[in-house]
Amino acid sequence: MKILVLFFTFALSLNPAFSQSPPAAPAAGKTQLIAHFHALRRNFGNANTAKVEMLSGPEAVKMLRGQSPGKAWQARLGGSKFKITIEDKLDMKLEEAFERLQRLPAEYRRALEVVSEDKKDGVAFYADLDGAAAHGSQNYLNLVKGAGVEVISHEAGHVLEQRATRADPTVLERWNKARTEDGVSISAYGDRVNHEDLAEFAMLYAICLDAGKERLAEAKEKSPRRFAIWQEILTKTKS
Ligand SMILES: [Zn+2]
Repeated sequence: MKILVLFFTFALSLNPAFSQSPPAAPAAGKTQLIAHFHALRRNFGNANTAKVEMLSGPEAVKMLRGQSPGKAWQARLGGSKFKITIEDKLDMKLEEAFERLQRLPAEYRRALEVVSEDKKDGVAFYADLDGAAAHGSQNYLNLVKGAGVEVISHEAGHVLEQRATRADPTVLERWNKARTEDGVSISAYGDRVNHEDLAEFAMLYAICLDAGKERLAEAKEKSPRRFAIWQEILTKTKS
């Protein structure tokens, strides 16, 4: 597996946590929450009714990654305005981008706004990201065509964590402590490094939020300290 980690850059490789096949059995005595909630992933976002509305575009642009030629649109989903950019060499219809964004919980749309500020490209689709499925930071949310709502939820975790950390540099340090205190793994991918654990939790929370109150309460019960910090991040990054 390949991971690019640059300054303020977190790359998500195509890893087992994101495959649709059943997860491998965890090691004895070790439960991974992503496996516990696996069955919820099939219907993730299916019940959302809000539709993306196109406000303007396309506009020809040079995309931030490698100045590659692309097209940009301004769009709105619920109360959130954001940008979608698609690299010219990628064969992808705008509706395909809409479809996956519409599955994202409303609470995560703030990440789409953050990556659309100023000269940023918004939700940017590329033909290739050197083998990764996505890169997310508060400065960009880059995706390949195959990246769906789970990947976008994970990347929203990076986007919003970085935004929260800008105002409160203790966020990741507190997260690391919470991981230890909760004493449960989210996924093998998250086990590698603290900020990926946070992004994996962001995805897990999104899946449980989408599935309803009882599932969300179950996530809280299983990982209460992470749960509290992630809710704090969602609240503090709202504006
Ligand atoms: Zn990541």
